[in-house]
Amino acid sequence: MREEMTRMDRLASLGKISAGIAHEIRNPLTGITLLLDDLHDRPGLDPNTQLMIGHALTETERVERLISSLLSYSSPPRASFVRSDLNAAVQEGLVLFRKACEKQGVELTASCQPIPLFPFDADQVRQLLLNLLGNALEAVAPGGRITIGTFCTADCAGITVADTGPGIPEEDIPRLFEPFFTRKSAGTGLGLSIVQRIVEEHHGNIRIESKVGQGTVFTVELAMGWPDC
Ligand code: ADP
Ligand code: MG
Repeated sequence: MREEMTRMDRLASLGKISAGIAHEIRNPLTGITLLLDDLHDRPGLDPNTQLMIGHALTETERVERLISSLLSYSSPPRASFVRSDLNAAVQEGLVLFRKACEKQGVELTASCQPIPLFPFDADQVRQLLLNLLGNALEAVAPGGRITIGTFCTADCAGITVADTGPGIPEEDIPRLFEPFFTRKSAGTGLGLSIVQRIVEEHHGNIRIESKVGQGTVFTVELAMGWPDC
């Protein structure tokens, strides 16, 4: 219990510091992006300079994405629970993803079981799904497969995201939900921390089954009786 409080305290102060820094960086970054945009579109620019400005813009976009992740991790909007259709939320998330999968030659299939309406935050659940799908897509090679499923138990509604990627080494599993833990050169290490926070707000749980060389399955369960409305 004591250890758990320490972890929560650490995460809370980390969150506050990150949010402060993220806000401070965002304003000058917007200025830099506007200036680069303006330079990039100037007539008569030699192609090499234009290319370099293009690269600089790509890097500013990367910082902007990192800041968005930091802010959604450290100062998330309060969850708003509305009785909704989980399968519809999953389908909306998939629409955003189908193109990216096609582009990479990855097969995306979904198998959804009927789930009664229950209160959840659809925006947050879409965010959760996009984070899990993003990781799956980054993990699988062309020709690989991502399979989404939904299911329902007596008191929980669930989502599974399975991929045929390289799997996760056993020693990494306990660290996956640590903020900033990443094995990617351009990763933020915040995707799964955000997933975990959303799951906690929905009084749910998350499980990982992974075999190196075979793939990974993330299973998220959301409590259907929370909050009581
Ligand atoms: P990021 O994607 O920015 O690295 P995440 O919190 O989303 O941060 O993921 C943390 C780490 O978990 C990843 O760097 C990767 O090592 C591992 N991981 C997550 N999902 C998968 C997956 N589907 N297959 C393999 N590794 C994964
Ligand atoms: Mg990620």
